[in-house]
Amino acid sequence: MGRGSSGAGGSLPNSSSGVNSANIKNSRDLVSMRERKQEEVDAVLESARTLAEDYGVQVGQFEIADIGGKDSGVLAYSDGENIGFNSGYFDGAKMDGAYDESVKQGYHPSRGSKSAIEAVGYHEGGHVITQRVADRLGYSGSGSMDKAAKKIVQGAMKRTGDKSSMKFATKISGYSKTSYAECVAEAIADVACNGKKASPESRAIDAEIKSILKR
Ligand SMILES: [Zn+2]
Repeated sequence: MGRGSSGAGGSLPNSSSGVNSANIKNSRDLVSMRERKQEEVDAVLESARTLAEDYGVQVGQFEIADIGGKDSGVLAYSDGENIGFNSGYFDGAKMDGAYDESVKQGYHPSRGSKSAIEAVGYHEGGHVITQRVADRLGYSGSGSMDKAAKKIVQGAMKRTGDKSSMKFATKISGYSKTSYAECVAEAIADVACNGKKASPESRAIDAEIKSILKR
């Protein structure tokens, strides 16, 4: 989950830049921190448990890392298999504050009654789910997640009757506009946090994914 620029025009960009791996320092196992950070670690595990139940998709490893350089403001990241959290934000109150500020600016969907750490877990889990959709569709190699995300958004747009992917993404969140992949991840977080109160566009993405994964 990064801080992207918002695009203009009719279609979403195909891929987002993501976190530069050179800026990820000193990553270590997240779950082993549970003694010191019980509430936070449990929120992460709860997000993974819910997504496994809803979509049948398991996250690989959870890690925590020190993130520097231009990516120091990133809350978390995923490679489509594993999820990492930024050690600089891995505190319940601090994450709630950072997240709520971005919700106020229209950058992320509401977290409903969930903690921000859980909401971020849903967003990053959304990337893992998208990679699973890519596998299911027979896409492989670099760019397969982006390709699956585009397919999901296009399917969801048929459900809502939208013609412009940029307009469609705008109704989910500001960050959704940065790429098809972020649009899907934001929609999954919206549905996981807000249920029936999630936007119709997010719910269409959820329905499209479930139809591909036969859930
Ligand atoms: Zn993301």
